[in-house]
Amino acid sequence: MAITDLRQQFPILQRMVKDRPLVYFDNAATSQKPQCVIDALSHYYSHYNANIHRGIHTLAEEATLAYEASRIAVKEFIGADSTEEIIFTRGTTEAINLVAYTWGRANVQQGDEILISGMEHHSNIVPWQILCEEKQAILKVIPVTEEGELSLEAFKELLSIKTKLVAVVHVSNSLGTINPVNELITAAHLVGARVLIDGAQSAVHLDIDVQKMDCDFFAFSGHKVYGPTGVGVLYGKRELLQDMPVFQGGGEMIKEVTFERTTYNDLPYKYEAGTPNIADTIVLKTALDFIQQAGKAEIREHEAMLLAYATTRLKAIPGLSIVGEAKAKASLVSFVVKGVHPQDIGVLLDNMGIAVRTGHHCTQPLMKRFGIPGTVRASFALYNQQEEIDVFIAGLQKTLKMLQ
Ligand code: PMP
Repeated sequence: MAITDLRQQFPILQRMVKDRPLVYFDNAATSQKPQCVIDALSHYYSHYNANIHRGIHTLAEEATLAYEASRIAVKEFIGADSTEEIIFTRGTTEAINLVAYTWGRANVQQGDEILISGMEHHSNIVPWQILCEEKQAILKVIPVTEEGELSLEAFKELLSIKTKLVAVVHVSNSLGTINPVNELITAAHLVGARVLIDGAQSAVHLDIDVQKMDCDFFAFSGHKVYGPTGVGVLYGKRELLQDMPVFQGGGEMIKEVTFERTTYNDLPYKYEAGTPNIADTIVLKTALDFIQQAGKAEIREHEAMLLAYATTRLKAIPGLSIVGEAKAKASLVSFVVKGVHPQDIGVLLDNMGIAVRTGHHCTQPLMKRFGIPGTVRASFALYNQQEEIDVFIAGLQKTLKMLQ
């Protein structure tokens, strides 16, 4: 099926907002869901809702099989070696916190350094700040250039044998920049550092192969890949996951419990305490299958066309500057307009049924770097159309006329 036909599979895109057809350009925050994902959730609750792993009855067996099938789908989607390396979490945020809490507490000591970048989402800053404070370790930051790229020279200068971890975003949620993660990972490994890649924005746009990339950890969220909220993934290399201390204690993560001593379960269950988010995890597979069927190459081509078109149209607007003009970008464009607050643009666009995101996008240090309070961000998904960009540009021109 052609990419443009897939739009029909997203029922929400039929709705009206403020008496206008919805134009949804807030895909970097969360993507909309195809009918197959919505149906799969309902099917789970209508047909085989049960707790997993422990039951011997039919429903429990069906739910367990579906849950583990989702783990296999994730393994294949990101090119992991084994399902033992796939831990289900609540999202990217929880996945990063899991690494900080377990690997971090076991491996980072006083005086060690953790290297992040100037374009990180707060969820890839704050967990490391908490860890550094606790361990008296040092957080260092790879600077961002005027174009919105990472300074690789500065990165190489910051790297040393003191660096224990490099934690960087694959695709910036504020600028769209695609970072050269292969190069970063190779350099980090040369000094013996581990690397965590925040894939919250990349999993939906780029081909992910964690083995080729050779990252040590990779995190992403279900809700940004056309799947449900409340489920995410932490990939970790098996040898690291095996040695790390446990995260939360409770049911399922144990082998044997006595009051004297508890032994822990094998991978990946060791990190999945308690009843997980069964329904949403099962349906994550439906979303990943949907992407695979659409074809990542086709999706990228379509989204690249949308990005190029939107960029050209935006650049023609007087007083408007695009924030982040990296050579490699995912389908996201952030901008500011001289003398106009981003939020005012967002509110007036919403009055025309156009959904964009405004503000700091959970990247306050990056906004500070560019000396701006925030941006207007339009981010595109496979179902967006060139005509929607025309509606958006016309709406923006009208908005600016009112505000300027
Ligand atoms: N990192 C990046 C780059 C993101 O865009 C987001 C979501 N905005 C996150 C991390 C956090 O993801 P979640 O809120 O799904 O945990």
